[in-house]
Amino acid sequence: MTKAVCHLCSTRIIMKIICIGRNYAEHAKELGNAIPTEPLFFLKPDSAVLAHRHPFYIPAWTKEVHHEVELLIRICRNGKAIQPEFAHRYFDAISLGIDFTARDVQAEAKAKGHPWEKAKAFDGSAVISKKWILTDALDSGWESIPFHLNKNGAKVQSGCALDMIHHVHNLIAHVSQFMTLKMGDVIFTGTPSGVGKIADGDVLEGFLNEDSMFRVNVHGT
Ligand code: ZN
Repeated sequence: MTKAVCHLCSTRIIMKIICIGRNYAEHAKELGNAIPTEPLFFLKPDSAVLAHRHPFYIPAWTKEVHHEVELLIRICRNGKAIQPEFAHRYFDAISLGIDFTARDVQAEAKAKGHPWEKAKAFDGSAVISKKWILTDALDSGWESIPFHLNKNGAKVQSGCALDMIHHVHNLIAHVSQFMTLKMGDVIFTGTPSGVGKIADGDVLEGFLNEDSMFRVNVHGT
């Protein structure tokens, strides 16, 4: 099978980024949202990916960007209408990222019934660690691997896949009913509670199984 890799630097090419909303009960509660009966999802374009080692600049058009640390799933083969029992064949690695969200802009969009793209899909809004951990190497134990986010050295969010409302297999089954999953797609699986506003000078560091996965410096006005 050919890999979706760049012929220049052999970095894996990201196809589309699918993000799951409200996948942890405590987080839905902290934002005053109902727990969804089916997975809620939206997309980020490839232009949303924050370049490796680059700082995150808070855009001038928002006054409230939140960090949302999320477990990432890498799709390794193309599939449509995947059954949950076969979903494990469609991803090969996990990682960690941040779904930066302009909460003020999102609240306005929600109130008007508008789409979320302005609040979720902007440049730099997707932090994706360069490190991927092959699920093969983890047997079936990957779901209990803890992850957390430190802000300026203090733990602000933590979780693991076992805490999810909708299991990763069900996320893959659900999304693939509507859009074909392709090799190189990345799924952001939703954020646990503890989201919060970021400010100029903040340093965000994500850990998966106590390993540092990324470190992002925040710059703002
Ligand atoms: Zn999110």
